[in-house]
Amino acid sequence: MLNNKVAELLNKQVNAEFYSAYLYLDFANYYQEIGLDGFAHWYTVQAQEERDHAMLMLQYLQNNGEKVTFEAIAKPNKELTSKEIVLVYGLDHEKLVTSLIHAIYDAAYEVRDFRTMQFLDWFVKEQGEEEKNAEDLIRKMKLFGEDAKGLYMLNAEMLNRVYSAPSLVL
Ligand code: MG
Repeated sequence: MLNNKVAELLNKQVNAEFYSAYLYLDFANYYQEIGLDGFAHWYTVQAQEERDHAMLMLQYLQNNGEKVTFEAIAKPNKELTSKEIVLVYGLDHEKLVTSLIHAIYDAAYEVRDFRTMQFLDWFVKEQGEEEKNAEDLIRKMKLFGEDAKGLYMLNAEMLNRVYSAPSLVL
């Protein structure tokens, strides 16, 4: 059994990770609509990773004898009005997720729950990568997105993203 607050925050994070998947599918759908299939693919892969994060949280709770409750997943609430703004929303969202992971870590640290801290270490590192990826996309879009050929090549590069299962095994 885990500390109540730690378990509650982890349970909320299951929902937050599924929400991230839902949000990124919304992004993918937007890019598909405007004809940027590489960006659509990139965010579809990202959504798959977010579902993996949710499952890892879920399994961790189950492995520790905690009851998991599923709440409604909120409707994605971003106004997707340009190919650039979506990427900015992506970075904003990853920063929010980082703060959520840190809050769980804080709660675990408070009660010297070393097992949960160790579990969360992977997510702390992962969030560093997620924020960097989101920043890189914004930078590339600024550099190449205005030019039709540049955008064509950037879209082609995004199409190359390959899904890989999370390196964390429970
Ligand atoms: Mg995530």
